[in-house]
Amino acid sequence: MYIDVLTQVNFYDDKLFTYSVPSNFINSIKIGSRVIIPFGNKKIEGFVMSFCDKKEGFIIKDIIDVLDDDSLLTDEMISLGKYMSETYVESLINCYKAMLPSALKFNNNKTSIKKEKYIVINNLDEVEKVSEKNIIKLLKKEGKVKKSKISNKKALKILIDKNIVKEIEEEKYRLNVEYKKTNKLKLTDNQKKAFDEINNSDEKIYLLRGITGSGKTEIYMDLIEEVLNSGKTAIMLVPEISITTQLIDRFRGRFNSKIAILHSSLSNGERYDEYRRIIRGEAHIVIGARSAIFAPLSNIGIIVIDEEHESTYKQENTPRYTTLDIALERIKYNNAKLLLGSATPSLESYARAKTNKYKLVELLERINKKELPKVEIIDMKEEMKKGNDILSDSARLKIEDRLIKKEQIMILYNRRGYSNYLICNECGEVLKCPNCDISLTYHKVDNSMKCHYCRYKINKPNICPNCKSKHIVLRGSGTEKIEEYLNLKYRDLRIVRMDRDTTSRKGSHEKIIQDFNDGKYDILLGTQMIAKGLDFDNVTLVLILNGDNSLNIPDYRSSEKTFQLLTQASGRAGRKDKEGEIVIQTYNPNHYSILCAKEHDYISFYNMEMNIRKKLNYPPFCFLVAIRVISNDYKLGESIIDKINAYLNNNLDNKYTILGPSISIKIDNKYKFQCIIKYKDKNKIYEVLKNIVDHYKNSKIKLEIDFNPLKL
Ligand code: ADP
Ligand code: ZN
Ligand code: ZN
Repeated sequence: MYIDVLTQVNFYDDKLFTYSVPSNFINSIKIGSRVIIPFGNKKIEGFVMSFCDKKEGFIIKDIIDVLDDDSLLTDEMISLGKYMSETYVESLINCYKAMLPSALKFNNNKTSIKKEKYIVINNLDEVEKVSEKNIIKLLKKEGKVKKSKISNKKALKILIDKNIVKEIEEEKYRLNVEYKKTNKLKLTDNQKKAFDEINNSDEKIYLLRGITGSGKTEIYMDLIEEVLNSGKTAIMLVPEISITTQLIDRFRGRFNSKIAILHSSLSNGERYDEYRRIIRGEAHIVIGARSAIFAPLSNIGIIVIDEEHESTYKQENTPRYTTLDIALERIKYNNAKLLLGSATPSLESYARAKTNKYKLVELLERINKKELPKVEIIDMKEEMKKGNDILSDSARLKIEDRLIKKEQIMILYNRRGYSNYLICNECGEVLKCPNCDISLTYHKVDNSMKCHYCRYKINKPNICPNCKSKHIVLRGSGTEKIEEYLNLKYRDLRIVRMDRDTTSRKGSHEKIIQDFNDGKYDILLGTQMIAKGLDFDNVTLVLILNGDNSLNIPDYRSSEKTFQLLTQASGRAGRKDKEGEIVIQTYNPNHYSILCAKEHDYISFYNMEMNIRKKLNYPPFCFLVAIRVISNDYKLGESIIDKINAYLNNNLDNKYTILGPSISIKIDNKYKFQCIIKYKDKNKIYEVLKNIVDHYKNSKIKLEIDFNPLKL
């Protein structure tokens, strides 16, 4: 028997190599399983792509080992990899690797399968002793019993020796979850209407625009239940799994054992088990972040992408895929439905819904017709004149009011650390990361200056490294400083901080969310992490301290991001019985994204923003692709991006707009140079990009092709 194997020999090389399969492996080898092959004088890993005939004129070697009993890539996955490779101008092997959980990426390891020993009846015979009788009684009642559960080992041994019972081994899945059973809620009339519009229609793609607290999750669950009842499976995608514990609990409560969760904080073994439960058809619903779109489910009936506007649905490493592309491909293959849900759909999605490419379904009232919270906008320029640099008078009064009433508060400050830069008052030098050309952030906990782009970290200097002056000061603030400020201001305040620094340990997110929910804290303070998806009954005030932080990012999406963040954050207040209130502090009180967020007015925002995008020719009026050259050597990188720019200009006509070349900052000692192409029709683009990729295949620089780039 001969097989063609795909392996990673050269970065862009997708050549197949033929191997023979010794007889002892013939039964275990399947298309899509991983094998170890000899290559030169090395042993490397590869995927079995097909069975083939013997190739004459070559010396064909035997494979060394088969790593997986179950095939890891289904037929659908194999063709999906080919689609990705074409769409993103990426090597096939990288696409397959992206589909697999990290435990299964090329690491030359067999992940072990955990086994558990059980005792079952073998040959029932009369027994005399009471202790033996008890064991038989238990086995008769339960069928099989864990060996560890039988305490009288002596009696057990006698029974085994007499062949009356025997020991068997069964695979044990490592992930063990506790859950509370929850009941299905009766959909409100509005929810039912939205549900019917999706369930009773033959359209394939739906956009559910449902304001925060309108009950979207309940609709997802009902649609998924319908799908399961018809014998099909479902994928439920969420932007970030660690902040989605509440949604997962609701799903578990309703569907428990049918669910598999693909979670980055699972151990390798747990993930391997979850993956195999899916392949074997034991799990019917897969919940996970972006990469769960590759879950090897078969017979998919629906894919739900919750908070579809979130940037986490774009993968930022190779292959730089957009989850939506993959979802569209999978619903085509499975003849399934795709449901995009959001309170603040991306402009692209809403524009597609308006032009009937998606079916638009809207839920514009909260559950029980609860009002959306009132939003107050505070002009911080005025507050600064009064000396209020962190809290406005109004925010302070409202905090004090909630503390007295024992209601909870969420405070959003979208920057972590203590101070965001250290500046010398004598020479004006700002302390920067030597690897990244970005100012270092002060972290008070360990008196350090850290780079938020690489891992660079030093102790805070006491004198200016440039002019040796002692007059160096910390400026700007981050969540650490806000926490300290609040603790000094309010004695006995119970405040918990949630940002990347407090949530690096496994399970720490979940614990903060649970403790806050249990009323152990008065205030939850955090970065944009706390803005999404959380649902606390007792929160009646949401305070956004630097509401315009995201407006200052030089990106065509900065207004959209600001509107989304403010709307999502506002949606966290007053979700149950109590009224909610929002305070947004900003230096741009008249910016349309802030004014529209105040009025909860998605449509006005959409219209204004679409006008601007049209004028400037940005998505959704065109597509973007970035071509980046990454190099340790500045001169080399610069000369190559210039050549690429010239090539693009010579080969693309004036229907394409080429921006750049530009030098983005140095990150981690590497310089990034880029060109952006704006295009409407992608045909010519592929050919041109492929030529560039081929040309620099063996070059010293690294080339990145990034469709729908997040950062310009
Ligand atoms: P969204 O995802 O649209 O923000 P959720 O699905 O989280 O909204 O629902 C908001 C709140 O309303 C949740 O606490 C949920 O339990 C509750 N809820 C949703 N649907 C119903 C219903 N049909 N009856 C009663 N409560 C509901
Ligand atoms: Zn750095
Ligand atoms: Zn100085």
